[in-house]
Amino acid sequence: MTETIEAPATVKPINHWIGGRAVPGTSGRSGAVYNPATGLQSGAVDFASVAEIDTAVQAARAAFPAWRALSLAKKAELFFNIRELFHERREEIAKLLTAEHGKVLSDAMGEVTRGLEVIEFCCGLPQLLKGSMSEQASTGVDVYSIRQPLGVVAGITPFNFPAMVPMWMWAPALACGNTFLLKPSEKDPSASMYTAELLKEAGLPDGVFNVVHGDKVAVDAILEHPGISAVSFVGSTPIAKYVYETATANGKRCQALGGAKNHMIVLPDADIDMAADAAVSAAYGSAGERCMAVSLLVAVGDVADPLVEAIKQRIPNVKVGDGMDPSSEMGPLITREHRDKVASYIGSEGEIVVDGRENCPSDGFFLGATLIDHITPEMKSYQDEIFGPVLGVTRVATYDEAVKLVNDNPYGNGTAIFTRDGGVARQFQFDVQVGMVGVNVPIPVPVAYYSFGGWKASLFGDRHIYGPEGIDFYTRSKVVTSRWPDPATSKVDLGFPQTR
Ligand code: NAD
Repeated sequence: MTETIEAPATVKPINHWIGGRAVPGTSGRSGAVYNPATGLQSGAVDFASVAEIDTAVQAARAAFPAWRALSLAKKAELFFNIRELFHERREEIAKLLTAEHGKVLSDAMGEVTRGLEVIEFCCGLPQLLKGSMSEQASTGVDVYSIRQPLGVVAGITPFNFPAMVPMWMWAPALACGNTFLLKPSEKDPSASMYTAELLKEAGLPDGVFNVVHGDKVAVDAILEHPGISAVSFVGSTPIAKYVYETATANGKRCQALGGAKNHMIVLPDADIDMAADAAVSAAYGSAGERCMAVSLLVAVGDVADPLVEAIKQRIPNVKVGDGMDPSSEMGPLITREHRDKVASYIGSEGEIVVDGRENCPSDGFFLGATLIDHITPEMKSYQDEIFGPVLGVTRVATYDEAVKLVNDNPYGNGTAIFTRDGGVARQFQFDVQVGMVGVNVPIPVPVAYYSFGGWKASLFGDRHIYGPEGIDFYTRSKVVTSRWPDPATSKVDLGFPQTR
């Protein structure tokens, strides 16, 4: 019997995608990509220079006129092909996510499914792009509005949803007739390259979708390039603010979604087991690396002790391990540095109930689920977006105190209330200054036909992403006033046009 041994691990080169094909980088700069479950380098991603960004913009510009002119019917047909292909290959996409991000495969499949919902929404593009018309606005005069694409638009995305967040951008941008440049996170770039391959296979013309990898050099080149009309950004708040300010200073339309500190309020009348299940799922799913993760539990009145106990009981059952192992429920963090930073919040403040530094795999970038009680607003772990599996508990006496905490927080991405009292839940929806609110729903990510976005430091710009606001962001409206008079009635009239 022949014995087979595995070939030594190779480092995969990850190139740009420009004009319908993979293009090796020429800048001489690249970044390491890791498998976070093993801690070993799996890839090297090219970092684009200013000149390479320009090449990609030129490819997108060249593809724009024909893409814009393609009929709505043909674009819709192509979107149905895209939907079918991404659905068919969802497991392949998910495996790429697990290999570079670390999230468990079932969670990665969930990410792809939520992204697919946005593609499905975009299949209705003829309906979404309908304008309006007023016949006989004045005698013999009709007025109508139409929506037109912006041109070349760019998307800059974070590491935590390497497939879904790009889909939030490219799907509506292309559906609206724009051509697109994606600058994905340099930490997990392979899903973007696979996206480019799938779009080509589905029949998207070359140059309509391009991928350029890189760091600040690439981002700055995008923000300053005169050939790019609009920028969508999702990432941390300081970079979102910088991107918004720089893009708008360069005359671009911009929506920049930032970080979060999501509070889950539990009222004394809530079902303790249901609230504990929800808190564990929303705090530790994807190792807490979700912008809609619950990072603070606000326990109102006497619910605190039994709730903390119920969560403590559940944590040992959360299986931490390699995301490719079907029994794992929580994978590693994205990098060693990030894992160490998240771990540094444990022990310095509050009262540790469960310490995730104990009993978690030593290879890779793992940290176990952590619960810290008695966190108060002056503490750093209350104020910072930790972005890891660390759940803090803040105890307050009343509903009013709980709402004040949420409203005083600089972030305003997501929040949730757990209660059996419909009247209080409705009051919460009225009072709370946050963009996405859950009532007994811990992660209230809107469905694809609404739009996603926070308030305050969680969003710079005035349009949320995907859904109706996404269509609005990627188009501009034009109003046409039209008449077909009998030339025999024509005369000079210097007065300001009146409606009659
Ligand atoms: P990040 O801000 O570090 O990076 C986001 C993008 O910006 C990446 O493409 C990165 O290459 C680029 N970038 C990083 N530093 C830069 C710099 N100095 N100048 C120019 N560009 C730079 O974010 P991340 O760590 O990849 O992702 C996690 C963050 O994203 C968290 O704060 C999370 O809350 C946030 N996020 C928000 C949402 C939302 O919808 N609001 C969704 C997902 C993630």
